[in-house]
Amino acid sequence: MKKEDLRKLLSLESSIDITNVDIKKEGGKNNKYVYVKSNKKKARCLKCGNFSNKLHDYLKPVKIVYLKNSGENTYLIASKRRFKCKACKKTFTEDLGLNGGRCSISYKTKQMILKECLDRNKTLEDIAKDCNVSTDTVRRIFLEAMKNYPENVDTLPEVISFDETSTYTCAGTYSFVLNDPIHKITLDILSSRKKDFLISYFSKVKNRKLVKVVICDLKDHITRSSKFVFQTQFFAHEPFHYTRYVLKGLDDVRIRLQNEYEENKKSYEYRMLKNRVNSKLILKAFDYTKG
Ligand SMILES: [Zn+2]
Repeated sequence: MKKEDLRKLLSLESSIDITNVDIKKEGGKNNKYVYVKSNKKKARCLKCGNFSNKLHDYLKPVKIVYLKNSGENTYLIASKRRFKCKACKKTFTEDLGLNGGRCSISYKTKQMILKECLDRNKTLEDIAKDCNVSTDTVRRIFLEAMKNYPENVDTLPEVISFDETSTYTCAGTYSFVLNDPIHKITLDILSSRKKDFLISYFSKVKNRKLVKVVICDLKDHITRSSKFVFQTQFFAHEPFHYTRYVLKGLDDVRIRLQNEYEENKKSYEYRMLKNRVNSKLILKAFDYTKG
């Protein structure tokens, strides 16, 4: 393949020249090494912004992880030059637009990692494998990208819903999930479900007093924190927790009645109440119990 065709295939800028391509068998698979350099005669000074063509020296080539090509791990071996700026007299290294500073991961690989992070079906290991980096690198790049992400939502819709999910975070064993149920969007996942944390979080939401409906489970501290911050009187309890709450109440009655016959375990009443099949009848709708 012509080097120009390979340059296009690798989506490299026209200012990049490929000087050589080497395929090495490493760890049982082929790794592709693409040697690149700039074809520009001058470079822009990073300190003052002026162009300079006064060559200072050549740096040792650096290895940069690049996107896979034809399923093969691909590395760019980039040769960079140093120039002397005529304006500010400082020495600077040319920027080939492939990686930031001394980072060994290319911009394109970083973009691919973030794109794959949006895929809910992919684990950190999957992404690391696809992009030829370690899971730690995937995690670091994700956290770097999220650094300036706001810590709480700015505004809320009129209808919101909460749920909890069992996770291990630095703040506890449960995360708090905040949703927009009308548009079926998860707005945020909070690291804690504790009352003080929730009040502090929601107090920062600008339009919190415009929230009209809160759908949540029957946890008292959540209802109380919601009343405090949203000042809405309309709380809807979602059917799953509501049904569970009612069924538990019914079963408590069954156990209380059963205990009344505790002294005579052979009695008909005790056996009827204790019987597993009978105790499950209480959970069924009336129509299902006929016959
Ligand atoms: Zn300069």
